Parts: sequence; structure tokens; C-alpha cells
Amino acid sequence: MNRERILPLALGLILLLGLCAGCVQEVPPETTPPSRGPEATTTGEGIPQGDTPPQSYPVPQENRRGADVLLAGVASPRADGYYSASQALKFYDAKSGKAVFLCSQPGCTHSDSTCRAWLGPVGSLLAYGDEVFASVTDDRGTSVVRKSIATGETTVLDSWEQQEERTYSSFVHRCSYGRLLVILTISFHYWEDGAIYQETVRENWLYDLETGEKRKLDWASGDAGFTVCAMNREYAVVEYYGPQKGETQGNSWEQVMDLELRQYSLSDDSYTVISSEEDGYAFTAHPGKAYGDLVVFQERDALCLYDLKKQEKRETLTAENIINYWILDNKVFFIREDSPQGTPGRTISIYYADIETGQPVRLENGGNREVMEFGIHWEGDSFFVGNWKGGSYIISKRDFYLDNYEAARPGGY
Ligand SMILES: [Zn+2]
Repeated sequence: MNRERILPLALGLILLLGLCAGCVQEVPPETTPPSRGPEATTTGEGIPQGDTPPQSYPVPQENRRGADVLLAGVASPRADGYYSASQALKFYDAKSGKAVFLCSQPGCTHSDSTCRAWLGPVGSLLAYGDEVFASVTDDRGTSVVRKSIATGETTVLDSWEQQEERTYSSFVHRCSYGRLLVILTISFHYWEDGAIYQETVRENWLYDLETGEKRKLDWASGDAGFTVCAMNREYAVVEYYGPQKGETQGNSWEQVMDLELRQYSLSDDSYTVISSEEDGYAFTAHPGKAYGDLVVFQERDALCLYDLKKQEKRETLTAENIINYWILDNKVFFIREDSPQGTPGRTISIYYADIETGQPVRLENGGNREVMEFGIHWEGDSFFVGNWKGGSYIISKRDFYLDNYEAARPGGY
């Protein structure tokens, strides 16, 4: 058995990366030189935001990511709204602002398995095509189920029984081009020198949704690990982390781990490096790393896009002091410090740039120069969901770009 031991130090961050669908990649250098298109631009202050919001886009159908149901909902692939569940599946309609159980049985209380919307104790949820996928975990075990949105019919895709010395939990991580990636977490418990220890192993399982065929992705061993950021039928873009070679400085996760964005072949498990720390690769903790076939990543002062379909890497813009970045609504977002770290009176600015033009526009951000006023986390077709005033809020994309945060509604999952 190939165990992936997770450093306790890094557990939180790895979980964050894992649950949030991290990703990274690099162009196979021997086949595709990085293109530095004429669209690459350098930000000064960026164009100030005007009165007209930019064009918005529906969520891409491929590379749909799953969400922890306690933290987020998942955008519907077929309607402008999102699904959520604690035990029974609900749909929130963005137009009406109302949430309903996906069950029309007269008199149903939606509280047991006779309900058409029933799933059970859901941990994570993912919507893809005409189905919803969920991980369901209880004392007996963990299972991955698929549910038809039209009929409510539920089938079990895979399951694992809890055992005395090991417990299982699963997470529906990503769906793309007819395949589902499930992260299986196995916790081993054992006694040593009078104390109880737990070792956690994380496995990545890939399911073909048509044939039911499954395979484990064995791309890391020992203290190394990886997070799949995006995939199609042939390849997966992966953020790979492994113990640093040579002397390490400091003890934070980034300092003891080498990070690389890689592209793995799903047919023969070979890989090419898209970006490494030598290239100035810098990861983001934001969950919005992939957008359809595109993966966003930072290389020194550049924000780059890797196109999984074209197998191409390109620079979309450059900016100094980038401290966070992500991709949503067909746009690259980034936060930069206006002055270098440690400078008194440090301020930040937040920008978005259309991925085609790379032209950054500075968000008003409610006049806030310290933090992102409305921290967008995930999106539906017409709306963003994020943190505002210490809570989770849903806001139309139009209102978000126009800095009209007062139009936001509480909720969002
Ligand atoms: Zn019901």
C-alpha cells in the first residue's frame, strides 16, 4: 500500500488546498514554449472602475469543483442558482432568492429516505451535467452517491466500510469530461508508548461516470502529495508538493516544501513541469484556481494561464507585490500590496482583468485599502458568494462590480 503521510504541520494548509481544489501546471518545455502574447500588460494603477460593469459569464460546464456543504453551495449547471444540502437536496433560485427542496411529494417532511431529495449526512456536494454527486459519511462508512436532478433517483458509486483501526471519509473533489475525482481520507489509529496516534492518508480516486471504472492516482509517495487543479480526458494539472531538497529555511509549509505545477498524463502517469519554484511559482490559497480548461498561477510578477485543451501557457499580466490571486467569471483577480511588505501605512489594491485582454481594472472595494471588503469565494451564473461583514453573502455580479455591496443578501449556502 502506498501511503501518503501528511506532515501535521502542513495539515491545515493541505486540507485547505485539497478542499478548495488547488492547482498548478507548466507548459511541457520541449513541446510548447511559453507564449508572451501582445495581450500581456503591466499594471500601474490600473484603469479605475467606471459606472458600467464588465460582461459576466455563466460558470463553465467542465472542471466543476465540489464543496464542503458547511462552507458553500455548488452552482447548478442547468439553471441560475445553486444546490446545498444537509441531508436533503435544496435548490436556491438566484432570480427569486428562494430555496426549495428538490421534492414535490405532497406532505413530505424531507426528513428521511422516502423523500425524493434525500441524500443522508452529506459532507460534500458537486453538481455536474444533470446530476448531483455527494459524499455521505456515518458510523458505518463513507459512500459517494450520484443523484439524478430530474428524477431524484440515487445510486451508490462507491463505498468504504468503517473498521476498528481505520476510519474513512470521502470528498467529491472535481468533475470534468465525464470523470469524477474523489478524495478518500483514511485515518489510522494506533497506540505507541501509552499514547494514541493518528496517521492520515489521502488517496485520489478517479471514476469514469459512464463505465464506473475507477483507478487510484499514485503520483506521490512518502511526505509528498498533490492536488488536482483541473483535468480533461487525457491530462490533469496538479499542484505537487514534496519535501525540499537541501537545507530548509524556516518551518512554514511553503518553506519546507517544494511546490511545482505539473501536468500528468492520465494514460501513462508521466508528467511535465509547467512551473516550479525556480520559475518563481507562487501558489494561492484561494479556491478559484481553475476555470473550465484554464488554470491560473503566478510566476514572479506575472499571472499566467495554462490552457489544458491547447497545452499552452501564457502570461496574462504582470504586477508587482501580488499577494493573492484567483480566477472567476472569466477574469483573473488579484490583490497587490501598494508598497512592499514592512512599509509603514501598508495598503492594498484589488484588480480584475478579463482573461482575453489582461487589462486590469481596479475595484473600488468600498474604499477599503486594508482588506478585500467583499471577499468573493465562489460563483454561480449571475452571482458571487463571499464573506462580507463577517458573514456569508450572495451578491449579483453586477452589484459586486459596481461596488454596490448593500444589495447583497445573507446566505449563499
Ligand atoms: Zn421530500
